[in-house]
Amino acid sequence: MTYQNSLEFAEKLDHNDALKQFRNEFHIPQKENGEDKIYLCGNSLGLQATQTQKYIQKELDDWAQLGVDGHTDAEHAWKPYHEFLTTAMAKIVGAKPQEVVVMNTLTTNLHLMMVSFYQPTQKRHKIIIESDAFPSDKYAVESQIKHQGFDPADSLILWEPRDGENLCRYEDLVQLLKTHQDEVALIMIGSTNYYTGQSFDLQKITKLGHQHNTKVGFDLAHGAGNIQPNLHDSGADFAVWCTYKYLNSGPGSLGGCFVHERHANSPELNRFAGWWGHDKATRFNMRQDFSPIPGAEGWQLSNPPILSMAAIRASLDIFDRAGFDKLREKSEHLTGFLEFLVNELKDDKITIITPKNPKERGCQLSFQIKDADKSLFDKLTDAGVVADWREPDVIRIAPTPLYNSYTDVYQFIQILKSLLHA
Ligand SMILES: *Cc1c(COP(=O)(O)O)cnc(C)c1O
Repeated sequence: MTYQNSLEFAEKLDHNDALKQFRNEFHIPQKENGEDKIYLCGNSLGLQATQTQKYIQKELDDWAQLGVDGHTDAEHAWKPYHEFLTTAMAKIVGAKPQEVVVMNTLTTNLHLMMVSFYQPTQKRHKIIIESDAFPSDKYAVESQIKHQGFDPADSLILWEPRDGENLCRYEDLVQLLKTHQDEVALIMIGSTNYYTGQSFDLQKITKLGHQHNTKVGFDLAHGAGNIQPNLHDSGADFAVWCTYKYLNSGPGSLGGCFVHERHANSPELNRFAGWWGHDKATRFNMRQDFSPIPGAEGWQLSNPPILSMAAIRASLDIFDRAGFDKLREKSEHLTGFLEFLVNELKDDKITIITPKNPKERGCQLSFQIKDADKSLFDKLTDAGVVADWREPDVIRIAPTPLYNSYTDVYQFIQILKSLLHA
């Protein structure tokens, strides 16, 4: 698309946007004067859909009416409630329904997956992560290494950008696998890096890992609902994600988990078990040996929080109506427009460190700010822009296709410009 630097152009794009009505289905936070804020922070916490309250209220009503009988008699019975999320969630991450389950929270799921897919030996005990991994992922990986009796100083390997660069290069990952030949047990990468916004080619990384007899898993916290990770085709062994970022399911809401179908029936895999992962036919007999449900559901531990799942169902119904392909198409245009307008500013205070190729990023652009001057971010906040600052020197801007408009992006740039020139 060829972009123009004008409000009329932004308004024309909004007018022609087939998804424009979805903005009206979200609560947009407001300034004191009642105007909408410019919310560009859906990568941190997605906004609340207006129908979310109705979905949650329905479960509260059924609980009030039915008590324990809601497990079987609620309109959306609680016992199989997680199953109502599976098909839509599987579409969002490009998986087969049997490969996907909504359960627990992200870091918990990451641990559960490592219990199964990080089974180190004296020779093969190393884990490769990207150097700027999200802190929780790094803590989880380090603690798993220690739990298995190894030392992160020997066993944790960082895939790092080269000096003076911000992005990771595949050839360096290839080199790491060669250097640590037969020693790497697991590659665990954030599919879309939270800091730089770089999206990795999951299939390429998985192939590479599998060629070296390494298990491969991904954290899709910044991928789910943003990019199409095509998890099944990627061949990854496992993936985990949260639903409160691009999936708009509310603060601290449950996470998702993918286990590739080749592991659907794998009794040799270690796993932490709980009753919700046990064969549904005999779960309530209570005196059986553990017999896991085939597929991702077999990793469930507990009966899940229905109120949180109701919020996820509300959100997934919107994604289903919008269609992920259409969302992704708009997302590329929206972020392309943002990039175009930033480049038009020609201001050396801002460098975009996110890849230029739309295939190598989601909706987020990371602005590296010269001299790590956080005051610019503070002024944006005062002007009603919701974004976030990540140490040491990045402002993350994430226009999301469900509720952001081209006019949001244009107005954001006008505010940014006035602050840069002040
Ligand atoms: C948001 C995020 C988390 C947060 O983990 P929780 O367990 O949901 O608190 C972890 N990892 C990454 C990469 C994230 O972006």
